Amino acid sequence: MPIASPMRNAVISFSEMTVSLLAVVTDEHRDGRRVIGFGFNSNGRYAPSGILRDRMIPRLVSAGDNLIDVDRGMFDPGLAWDALMTNEKPGGHGERSVAVGVVDMAMWDIVGKLERRPLAEVLADRFGNGASAPAVPAYAAGGYYYPDGGSADLCDEISRYLDSGFTSVKIKIGGMPLADDLRRIEAVLPLLSRSDQLAVDANGRLPLAEAIAYTEAIEPYRLRWFEEPGDPIDFELHQRVAARSRTAIATGENLFSLTEVMNLLRYGGLMPDRDILQMDPALGYGLIEYVRMLAAIREFGWSETSCIPHGGHQLNLAVAAGLGLGGVEAYPGHFLPFGGFADGLPIVEGMAQVGDDPGLGLESKADLYKLMNDLVKDAN
Ligand code: MG
Repeated sequence: MPIASPMRNAVISFSEMTVSLLAVVTDEHRDGRRVIGFGFNSNGRYAPSGILRDRMIPRLVSAGDNLIDVDRGMFDPGLAWDALMTNEKPGGHGERSVAVGVVDMAMWDIVGKLERRPLAEVLADRFGNGASAPAVPAYAAGGYYYPDGGSADLCDEISRYLDSGFTSVKIKIGGMPLADDLRRIEAVLPLLSRSDQLAVDANGRLPLAEAIAYTEAIEPYRLRWFEEPGDPIDFELHQRVAARSRTAIATGENLFSLTEVMNLLRYGGLMPDRDILQMDPALGYGLIEYVRMLAAIREFGWSETSCIPHGGHQLNLAVAAGLGLGGVEAYPGHFLPFGGFADGLPIVEGMAQVGDDPGLGLESKADLYKLMNDLVKDAN
């Protein structure tokens, strides 16, 4: 499905952006309704339709009864993950990790619906400390480059986010000459109470020398973080930028596997008491892999509170609430109807409300619900 828009970051235009929406129809019923799980990929990577159709969906369907956790009497997303990854070699994650993430999201939606509980609570019980947060810090990611956009438009956009309850925002940098990007930062800062309510994101575009020039140029502003200064898997670049930077470095949305995250922590020079990890389960092999990543980051001396996933949707809100993460990204008004959280649950003083619908609660997003219904109208 298209989620195209004319905006750009430093590297790509979103004019061709697509997403896969998947329904996994079960033969179980709850409260008179068939249990159907829904999954989709986060924006930024394209719909992995071919991998889903050619390999993942046939493997899931043929796994059949092998998807049941006998002790719980329940579909097990871990068994589904094993089935999806049958005959897949390690490494070379590409867009396979996105396809697995889409299926994994639907499997967790099913588990929540079968247990009649919000996914955040399910995750807190299985992988967290048992307590899920009713609300999670959310920041508004926007400030893209538009074909005719100037700093007045940028300030209007940021003001809208602040008026709607956000207290922290992020804008793009790296897509214009440094001096022009600094002017964008200086245009936005007066709208905020503190400079650390603004983060900036170069989307991995900058070569080392330019990344260091940006780090040094933004240092006086004391911003919240500098995101993806350079290529996400150039760990030496990160190590050298992190060593020069007094601003926190944030990265991880384009690391899709446990091993990539371990390499970042080993060789990227990031600091557990300063920097931010943004891996996104909906792009990186799903929650099953994300839980492995969290175990690894603890071994490297990091806390879950340093994790603020990319994505801006219901899955990552549930993950942040259930697993005690430091926050979650949001894209108010972008990537609709997939982006954003449940209708009728406003952002209050920078906090996104989690809600209590079973599973992912995607049914509480009216525009998305229409697409979901179209997809499964013959299944009920
Ligand atoms: Mg980013």
